[in-house]
Amino acid sequence: MDLIEVRGDHYQIGLQIGQATASKIAAVLSPKPLSPGFQKRVAALAPVHERAFPHLFAEILGMAVGSDQNFEKLLAWNLFEQTGCTSILSLGRGGFLSHNEDGDAIFRNRLTLVKMHLPDGDTALCLQYPGELCGNAVSVTSRGMVFSINFLWPKQFANLGYNTNFLARELLGAPSLEGVQECLAAWRPRIDAYHWFVYSRLEKKALSIEVLKDRESVVQLEKGIHLHTNHYLHADARDEPQEEYPSSRDRLERLSQFFTGHATGERAQLALSDHKGKWPICRHGGEDSWTLANISVDLDTLKMEIAEGPTCMIRKYFTASV
Ligand SMILES: [Zn+2]
Repeated sequence: MDLIEVRGDHYQIGLQIGQATASKIAAVLSPKPLSPGFQKRVAALAPVHERAFPHLFAEILGMAVGSDQNFEKLLAWNLFEQTGCTSILSLGRGGFLSHNEDGDAIFRNRLTLVKMHLPDGDTALCLQYPGELCGNAVSVTSRGMVFSINFLWPKQFANLGYNTNFLARELLGAPSLEGVQECLAAWRPRIDAYHWFVYSRLEKKALSIEVLKDRESVVQLEKGIHLHTNHYLHADARDEPQEEYPSSRDRLERLSQFFTGHATGERAQLALSDHKGKWPICRHGGEDSWTLANISVDLDTLKMEIAEGPTCMIRKYFTASV
């Protein structure tokens, strides 16, 4: 796993990420210009996001310049690209987050671990997709916040509204669980949706947040094991219309079989390496995606262990901290 360290204002941060990952970005972005339909969508969404997040626009602009890519194309990439995943959060003594980052084969061996020293003095350590804003995979911040994300697939979303990749990047600045909720509530409606596990070391508490078009379903998590894949689970969200995604339900069902007794990091690793069934947890292509990386975070030390996947094939982890 490549680790890069970037610092400066938002443009500088984007520029340095772009320079360091230019070949990865070139490998995943289509060389073709955006289609007229896409151009129209981007033109409608761009001002909404530029008004709300001028600093994140500066990051994407820096990334475009640093990697010698077209800005509109990179903006479109951030507005419309989403990622899969399986997350396990164990709260209480020896608590941990364990996560499989799943995505298209094109991303294999092309993720980067980015340590951002932000202008306000905060630091964020993030698993990053080529050309994308940080925050939409697994992240740890110097404020003691831990984030993991799973995309959701609701049938109802706004035509004009906020994109969750931008929100995920924005959340990295949240000082607390309340700050996370305030940030999400401030940016509605949404054009797509994510689920977050968020842990705050200062508060020693965690939330599960499922985002919907114009509300958030928030559950405060108790001690014990919590699992999430890519469909709505919360009592006040699971009946909302969502696309049928059998892989997500199968992975969750299989995952729950691993945690009848005491949850340990080793057990989580075993679960995330599992291949049983039609839609295995550890993915090797064949259906819709690959397990690109496996990440675990010790909720006490906030130390991250990370390696490129599939999880079952990992022999050596890279350790990093914020
Ligand atoms: Zn495997």
